[in-house]
Amino acid sequence: MDKVIKDLLDTYKVTKQTRDFLSKPLGMYIDGKFVSGNANETLDVMEPSTGKHLAQIARGNEQDINDAVSSAKQAFEGEWAAYKPRAREQVMRKISDLIRENLQTIAELECLDSGKAISGCKAVDIAGAANVWEYFAGWATKISGSTRDTSMPGEYFTYTQKEPVGVVGAIVPWNWPFAMATWKLAAPLAAGCTVVLKPAELTSLSMLYFMTLCEQAGLPKGVINIVTGKGSIVGTALSTHPDIAKVSFTGSTEVGKLIGKNIADDIKHVTLELGGKSPMIAFNDADTDALARATLGSIYFNAGQVCSAGSRLYVQRGVYDEVVEKIKKIAESIKLGTGLDPQTQMGPVISKAQQQSIMNYIEIGKKEGARLVTGGYALEQDGFFIKPTLFADTTNDMRIVQEEIFGPVLVMQVFDTEDEVVALANDNEFGLASSIWTQDVSRVHRMVPQIKAGNVWVNIHDPGDPNMAFGGVKHSGVGKDLGPEQLEHYLESKTVWINIGAKND
Ligand code: NAP
Ligand code: MG
Repeated sequence: MDKVIKDLLDTYKVTKQTRDFLSKPLGMYIDGKFVSGNANETLDVMEPSTGKHLAQIARGNEQDINDAVSSAKQAFEGEWAAYKPRAREQVMRKISDLIRENLQTIAELECLDSGKAISGCKAVDIAGAANVWEYFAGWATKISGSTRDTSMPGEYFTYTQKEPVGVVGAIVPWNWPFAMATWKLAAPLAAGCTVVLKPAELTSLSMLYFMTLCEQAGLPKGVINIVTGKGSIVGTALSTHPDIAKVSFTGSTEVGKLIGKNIADDIKHVTLELGGKSPMIAFNDADTDALARATLGSIYFNAGQVCSAGSRLYVQRGVYDEVVEKIKKIAESIKLGTGLDPQTQMGPVISKAQQQSIMNYIEIGKKEGARLVTGGYALEQDGFFIKPTLFADTTNDMRIVQEEIFGPVLVMQVFDTEDEVVALANDNEFGLASSIWTQDVSRVHRMVPQIKAGNVWVNIHDPGDPNMAFGGVKHSGVGKDLGPEQLEHYLESKTVWINIGAKND
């Protein structure tokens, strides 16, 4: 182990479980076993606050996907199919309990791998994931079809019955490795599906550790398989595999479009949770303190690598200067540091490449004539840190206003009227989330239907609950994660007609 990493583990007194896990070779998880993969190749994993080598993961290939899908198919048709709803509920509840019991270790692995700040990671990512498992565990026993009345001449017994869609291929990004994977696993398991999941190559550790918890919970082999490796190889093989009935993807719009094309030949089910450039809209009567504070849980949370982050802020003229000052103050107060430090509010971004991409956007913003209020630079030290950044006086034709930067960069502009700001907010290719800040309830009700986004929040940004579906419109995707809506995406509805008119006596 690298000396710098070892010191990090010592300084922050990481758990024995974390150390033990990192000291062993990490395989993929296929058919109930950790395996090194058919090619026996590896990928290096970096710790983002130091840029130092943290671990090696297996580099999977097409054959590994074939093995994993075959195992998932066997479980789907065999052992898992024999699990009654309550048995599915019980094992899922056990998984939820084990996540809570192992919260510290999961969070440590997640923060070392992704750079996330541990306090937020524990409270939001990992505790939230336990809640999602618990929520969907409850759904396993509540899936039902319905009887129907028909008007066709004759006598019929007519009903619908729900069936799991089959083996699911799930692909997740690096910004919420554990949480996004959870969103892709719990609903299909409740529905009776099995899953092959590909984590992002940059952040596979927490999901591998998670499989040790699934073993403890007694989850049958093949129900969840984890294949690590490159998206271009493993992700492509997974999303095009003929035995995959549904692809559930969270990631960039670019790759989402590719997946959409790849699945067309096979007519697979699909959910795509893609990028965003979500507007926050604040009127003169807004609580500007609450608005400024909300940036801490949004664009300045997880170093801005949040798909639904309020990354564009439109403020009415009367409070514009005041909001600029309040957010500047908050941005400048944020404590940057290594993910493992409980005092850290913002960790590094995920990689050197991501840091460069964000810095490139900051340069573009300056050239486009936006006013840099604070931040705008990378820290000159090891690790991939970027100072929380605020651009004011932007206009909608700027690239920094239109494109997803995926870093701690907020762009602000002034507006005068409700109609004007609705048009500005909707003038974007994405439609994931939005928030409206006002005390005027009539205005809220006028605006909610007009905002083209999958989520509209009022006087809050980025709330979450497993019972509230999450997903985007336009280039932010199709389908929903969470809530009863997500469960439906993993169920086929079979329509049954039984002719009961003919008597044989
Ligand atoms: P990404 O580059 O699209 O990668 C996402 C996943 O797809 C990774 O596991 C990646 O593997 C894999 N992949 C790459 N190429 C593939 C291919 N040709 N076929 C199949 N899979 C492929 O996205 P990212 O950079 O990791 O994540 C950031 C993006 O995710 C942002 O745009 C963000 O807005 C979006 N996001 C959306 C939501 C939402 O709910 N809407 C939530 C979180 C993030 P490798 O890592 O190995 O390349
Ligand atoms: Mg990493």
